[in-house]
Amino acid sequence: MHSAYFTEEHNLFREGFRTFLQAEVVPHLEEWEKTGTIAKEIWPKFGEMGYFGIRYPEKYGGLDLDIFYLVIWLEEMQRINSGGFAAAMWAHNYLAMTHLLKEGSEAIKEKYLTASINGEMIGCLCISEPVGGSDVGAMLTKAVLDGDEYVINGSKTFITNGVYSDYLIVIAKMDIADNPRAMGVFLVDRDTPGVSATKLDKLGWRASDTGEIAFDNVRIPASNLMGEPGKGFYYVMQHFALERLIMGINAHARAEYALEYTLQYMSERTAFGKSLDKYQALRHRVSEMYTEVEICKTFNYMVAANLDKDVYVVKEACMSKLQSTKVADQVIYDCLQFLGGYGYMEEYPLARMLRDSRLGPIGGGTSEILKEIIAKMLIDKKTYKTSA
Ligand SMILES: Cc1cc2nc3c(=O)[nH]c(=O)nc-3n(C[C@H](O)[C@H](O)[C@H](O)COP(=O)(O)OP(=O)(O)OC[C@H]3O[C@@H](n4cnc5c(N)ncnc54)[C@H](O)[C@@H]3O)c2cc1C
Repeated sequence: MHSAYFTEEHNLFREGFRTFLQAEVVPHLEEWEKTGTIAKEIWPKFGEMGYFGIRYPEKYGGLDLDIFYLVIWLEEMQRINSGGFAAAMWAHNYLAMTHLLKEGSEAIKEKYLTASINGEMIGCLCISEPVGGSDVGAMLTKAVLDGDEYVINGSKTFITNGVYSDYLIVIAKMDIADNPRAMGVFLVDRDTPGVSATKLDKLGWRASDTGEIAFDNVRIPASNLMGEPGKGFYYVMQHFALERLIMGINAHARAEYALEYTLQYMSERTAFGKSLDKYQALRHRVSEMYTEVEICKTFNYMVAANLDKDVYVVKEACMSKLQSTKVADQVIYDCLQFLGGYGYMEEYPLARMLRDSRLGPIGGGTSEILKEIIAKMLIDKKTYKTSA
């Protein structure tokens, strides 16, 4: 069914990445989930294999591959069942690094993008603030030009890789006449004086490092403003399409994994003299769930194919995240139910999946905000223009 998107090369890539994850990541996952810290050694290993370079130009050490290699990369990371590990990887690779690629100067790309592709540097993207994440325009963090430096003051919260990344991509307000929404995208080195971070405790994504960050008179070179002054908001909105599609793909992949696991369990577990997969009420729910997941997956692949051709997919990417995260939550909830008491136990995968999945409808634009965007596009005929 999906062979239209995946070639033999894609399938080999999937096999190779799956083997790599089993060898290099899976043996450590339980520990990383407990400590809440991913060992830094894994980053250069990803780098050596080219796994951070899938969508990046060869000039900076990337592989410049099509989007279905990214789809595979995302799907396979969901199958090892640590939403936090996957988030740390994709937040670096696609939240932070997308800004380096799209708005970074040549000097920034040569230094930071190359090191990020190699896994020698880790990045994070700082948009959300304690005053609010949905209303990006209401942010308070500000960057003020002082000679040949910007001075940044403010705070960010819920930032993935926020404590242990080497650099931060910071979205901050700027003073530009007649532009109350003027924002900039700034590159800040972790060790710049005035940057401090606190790790947050959270329900799921436990292996990933989520931080609150304070900027107290942080001085950075003016050349660390990326892209055009004042256009930060547009850049953020532009890149949200990819982030939201990524979260949609993650959702269909974790739901599919939950279903596969649960079906196997149901075939082995007996009650009242027959295996669980023989009970019609459960079989029908399984059929419904597979249908819902397959429809999400097919839609997500279609959006990915269009994004790869630079088709404008802002609305569809919102739909992808909205629907796939909803379906994933429902599927994982019911799969846990089908495991009975074992579903509630930590040594079975569904407990963690339930916690991790809950972030889907919240991070990167809540479901309510996505519905607002879709409604504005459908009903008010609004277009979310690019910065060009
Ligand atoms: C584990 C984790 C990792 C994260 N990683 C990052 C990261 O790397 N970088 C980053 O910048 N951010 C990150 N976030 C932040 C995330 O994007 C925000 O939490 C999200 O955008 C929501 O913002 P908020 O939490 O401030 O909720 P609020 O904006 O305060 O919203 C609260 C509630 O009100 C609803 N609401 C708000 N406005 C409206 C409206 N107009 N209509 C209807 N309902 C509305 C929301 O949907 C939500 O249900 C992360 C969050 C978490 C939990």
